Amino acid sequence: MSLIERQINDIARARAIRLVGSDLIDIYDRVMSGERLTVEDAIRLYKAPNLSGVGFMANLVRESLHGSKAFYVRNQHINYTNICNKFCKFCSFYAKKGGPAPYEMDMAEVRRRLMEHIDVPITEVHMVGGIDPRLPYQYYLDLLHTVKSVRPGVHIKAFTAVELVEIQRQAGKPLQDVMRELMDAGLDSLPGGGIEILSDRVHRELFDRKLDGDEWMEVARTAAKVGLTQYATMLYGHIETIEERAEHLIKLRALQDETGHFVTMTPLSFHPEGTELEHVPHPTGYDDLRNIAVARLVLDNFLHIKSFWIMNTPQVTQLALWYGADDVDGTVHEYEITYKDGDHGNKKQVLTRKQMIKLIEEAGRTPIERDSLYNEVASVEETVPPKKFIPLAVRQ
Ligand code: SF4
Repeated sequence: MSLIERQINDIARARAIRLVGSDLIDIYDRVMSGERLTVEDAIRLYKAPNLSGVGFMANLVRESLHGSKAFYVRNQHINYTNICNKFCKFCSFYAKKGGPAPYEMDMAEVRRRLMEHIDVPITEVHMVGGIDPRLPYQYYLDLLHTVKSVRPGVHIKAFTAVELVEIQRQAGKPLQDVMRELMDAGLDSLPGGGIEILSDRVHRELFDRKLDGDEWMEVARTAAKVGLTQYATMLYGHIETIEERAEHLIKLRALQDETGHFVTMTPLSFHPEGTELEHVPHPTGYDDLRNIAVARLVLDNFLHIKSFWIMNTPQVTQLALWYGADDVDGTVHEYEITYKDGDHGNKKQVLTRKQMIKLIEEAGRTPIERDSLYNEVASVEETVPPKKFIPLAVRQ
């Protein structure tokens, strides 16, 4: 290395120390050299007071993968029933006394919901619901057939692992066979969800009637075997510890090493309103950004990290596009799992394509419409040229 190169490196390193701090500089060095982070690193990233430094590192990784692109999808959510026998303590969606009234959509209602937005060129229908043991196997097949008959060619992302276990119970067949039959009926991918956080302690305390971490992983492995793409999530901001968050990320990463079938990871901000955990404070924007950034840094085998604007708010999502997120989810129609803050009961949660583009452009990113598998559907002119990942050491 020449003297000038050495001097450039020294200057770059001094800058990096200023940005990330001397306490995180070893992690920065490993991120820059593409080295895998450990669970201890993840815990340090969660605890480091310098959120900007964590976000700076996450943004370097994000830009190396996607340049300035920020992906969105035009989609519709259908939550076919809110009747559920799992009674998860963090859930405000299921029908209960003093909470939402029970409903169950028949096929005419599903068709009606789809027709309501038929003029919008939606590429994805996202469908999940509660666990109602009275629904027969045929109901789930009919749901898929109905969506595909109204919207041929649409991608159906449906059924969490918990629903799949119930569907299998109804079908009375091996899970692998059930998944194949659901695929024949129109199922294209699994939305993830259903485990919230891979921690036996949290499982016992908050959702012990649902499947546990090992069972969730088995469903994911079976999905990979039959060729179903899957998405992953982590619900944070309830009773989980920093260590449990870090463990969750590491377990997801190991599962992805094994199966390679996950496309995106979405950290989901917990909304305590209307749940048994109403006393728990809502995660802050600071917490939301940190979870995006740490996920981006730890999950080196996940291509996409999503900031789901409904959970994180559009405002935090704009910032998240500089903290590791490259995806904002979709235009979304009628999301019933959580409501607008301060607007309990309002199920109309929509951003039009125009609003979505504005939100992304205002944040200084390039909006790219994608389908569920991240094929580009249409994009506006790029306003910022995609950046190549250039180690800071040679950026001058
Ligand atoms: S999170 Fe899902 S399984 Fe749990 S109560 Fe709510 S709807 Fe039921």
